[in-house]
Amino acid sequence: MDMIDKNRSLEGLDKRYIWHPFTQMKDWLDERPVIISEGKDCFLKDIYGNWYLDGVSSLWVNMHGHRKRELDDAIRTQLAKIAHSTMLGLSNEPAITLAERLIGLLHTAASPHNDSSSIAPPLSKVFYSDNGSTAVEVALKMAFQYWLHKGMSGRTAFLSLENAYHGDTLGAVSVGGIDIFHKAFGPLLFQTYRAPSPYCYRCTFDESHPDCTFRCLGAMEDILKEHSEEIAAVIVEPLVQAAGGMIVSPPGYLRGVRELSTRYRVLMIADEVATGFGRTGRMFACEHEAVIPDILCLSKGLTGGYLPLAATVATDEIYNAFLGEFRDLKTFFHGHSYTGNPLGCAAALACLDIFHNEDTLGQLRPKIERMESFLKDIAFLDHVGNVRSRGLMAGIELVRDKATKEPYPWEERMGWRVAHYAKAKGIFIRPLGNIVVIMPPLSIVIENLERLMSVIAEGIRSVTA
Ligand SMILES: *Cc1c(COP(=O)(O)O)cnc(C)c1O
Repeated sequence: MDMIDKNRSLEGLDKRYIWHPFTQMKDWLDERPVIISEGKDCFLKDIYGNWYLDGVSSLWVNMHGHRKRELDDAIRTQLAKIAHSTMLGLSNEPAITLAERLIGLLHTAASPHNDSSSIAPPLSKVFYSDNGSTAVEVALKMAFQYWLHKGMSGRTAFLSLENAYHGDTLGAVSVGGIDIFHKAFGPLLFQTYRAPSPYCYRCTFDESHPDCTFRCLGAMEDILKEHSEEIAAVIVEPLVQAAGGMIVSPPGYLRGVRELSTRYRVLMIADEVATGFGRTGRMFACEHEAVIPDILCLSKGLTGGYLPLAATVATDEIYNAFLGEFRDLKTFFHGHSYTGNPLGCAAALACLDIFHNEDTLGQLRPKIERMESFLKDIAFLDHVGNVRSRGLMAGIELVRDKATKEPYPWEERMGWRVAHYAKAKGIFIRPLGNIVVIMPPLSIVIENLERLMSVIAEGIRSVTA
């Protein structure tokens, strides 16, 4: 079989055997799939040798680029020792070292603000799993069972936000707020109170930040006033509701959520699966507002986008509530086969070393500024209703009518049409409905960032003309 035949048959075999996530397979079958065979830095190469700029970090996970030498080496070195052993009844070196590093990192993150206004105890215990959804499931179960152990069995509900996304398993979907993804599963979900999304462009209360009175927080408080005794935890995505459309919350909102959860004595879960590891310009998004949650969920960027790994980090207060005699059945009965996988933990350690050795966060500043200046220009385009960004994550909301903010009907798939345009120019992006998402690896060089932004601007001009 020559090369072309082999490649054609890969396309055929993909269509015959694979069911892709978040994909209408009927559309997939009508198109020619891009099949990736290699990567380097912020580029992906397909089986025909075409290179694509990875404009969404392989779905928000890649931080330091593909085939990063230090990451490759760390995994190889670990592989020469052992690929996997269980955390049920055993422990392993990389998992221990990583837990210590994460806790250290979280303490450093918290300490500049460690003044009298510090409103929560530090995060101190790491519970591993293998993806963002499981990190959230663990957080939800932990929060619920914490209250059981405290003798409060009535706390069976959660408080989450409209437009929230916390993953695709049923617990995570229960606290999700994106109708198009989540509504169908309604009958299977547990009870959740929903507070308005801090979506300033389409404010539920028709107010405008910074002149508003944070009625979104007021509505959250109303729910807590009435129902706090039923609520185990409030769960939020700090600063950016990512999958909900890159919705950036106004300054002070996150801190407001922390203060409300403290005042009404419910736990606060921060889902930093998308925002963690430098994405917002700081190591963790919570740092921007000096917030320490009771439970923190991490995944995506944790291994630099190399391997599936997640961590749910809890305070001693929560951990200690689970201590007891075996017969008390206070044990946290939860775990996964690949929990604390040594290869993943080795990659995560190397990823953190790179942040330190290359001053990834320091290097990020000029890139963020460059992206913001492009976004400013894009905001003037006729069908761009709103641009929003935090660090190196951005969303461009396309609208049919800029004056009235009338959205394009979702069936028109405007975001997808921009992505299609970009693909023909060698840029891979994946939109969220009418929102064009920009989320390149943190390691992207300015020149490639400029190319990414220019093609997106061209694409928007072209498809909305
Ligand atoms: C992606 C994401 C998840 C789910 O992570 P998976 O690894 O895809 O299960 C959860 N929360 C947030 C905020 C996310 O962006």
